[in-house]
Amino acid sequence: MKIIQFFGSLILLLISTLISQHVFAGPHALSNIQLSTEARGKVSLIRGVLEQGGFLIGQVSPKMNVMFLDKEVPVSDDGKFIIGFGRDFPAQATVTFKSDDKSFIESFNIRAREWNIERIDGLPPSKVTPRSQETIDRIIRESKLIREARAQVSTLQSFAQLFKQPATGRISGVYGSQRVLNGKPKRPHYGQDIAAPVGTPVYAPIDGKVSLAHNDMFYSGATLIIDHGQGLSTTYIHLNEIVVEEGQAVSQGQKIGTIGQSGRATGPHLDWRINWFDQRLDPALFLQVNAQ
Ligand SMILES: [Zn+2]
Repeated sequence: MKIIQFFGSLILLLISTLISQHVFAGPHALSNIQLSTEARGKVSLIRGVLEQGGFLIGQVSPKMNVMFLDKEVPVSDDGKFIIGFGRDFPAQATVTFKSDDKSFIESFNIRAREWNIERIDGLPPSKVTPRSQETIDRIIRESKLIREARAQVSTLQSFAQLFKQPATGRISGVYGSQRVLNGKPKRPHYGQDIAAPVGTPVYAPIDGKVSLAHNDMFYSGATLIIDHGQGLSTTYIHLNEIVVEEGQAVSQGQKIGTIGQSGRATGPHLDWRINWFDQRLDPALFLQVNAQ
């Protein structure tokens, strides 16, 4: 009897270990990452998801430089940095850490993901294939404004905060999907879509500063971009109303606008995105990491 109990509890222990590893510490969880001996005591990993669309927040000793994708990564006064891995990021991310006397390289395995294919038919043809030169010029002008807003590098440090969902509603679109509009393959979808009635409030998921507030863009309608420092920004599109101004500081949970269906939208929803410079990241992973 005692032997049976012993094996029973052993099996339970095994099962619970397997479950907890699966749920709380998957194979790409930060807790499983072994840094090199050179990095120990100089680099620490704070939070992140090591997969396509994911990110890594870490901290380095004072006066240490971080290099990633051939660029110097901004590092805060207290040593915090963030890097991001876009949708098609390769299997390995290589980060170089440099101090006065030495440098060393850490490699992180980035999990590859599979993406949905979404077909949307019945869009007005003029929105799928812009015809006039005027419209094309407008699209170029507006995408330049968005690119410039996202290229800003500020010393804000809210990038390291835990994100809160910016709106309540049904998740109607996910990051990474390949959209096929009226039969034509388009660029992948980089946002998380939250479907909710027009007028539903949108809140800042973390602190930041408004870097772009535009009321009428061709594709994205009323468009808002918030800077969170060190290359991290969030974008909110198809808004009905924007209630903050460019240059304004916003804090987590503050109302920044309302859900709408402005621009090219098939129904009222918030499409929100996260960028680390030109790497487009998955908002769902920033929310998921709260559970770590
Ligand atoms: Zn969307």
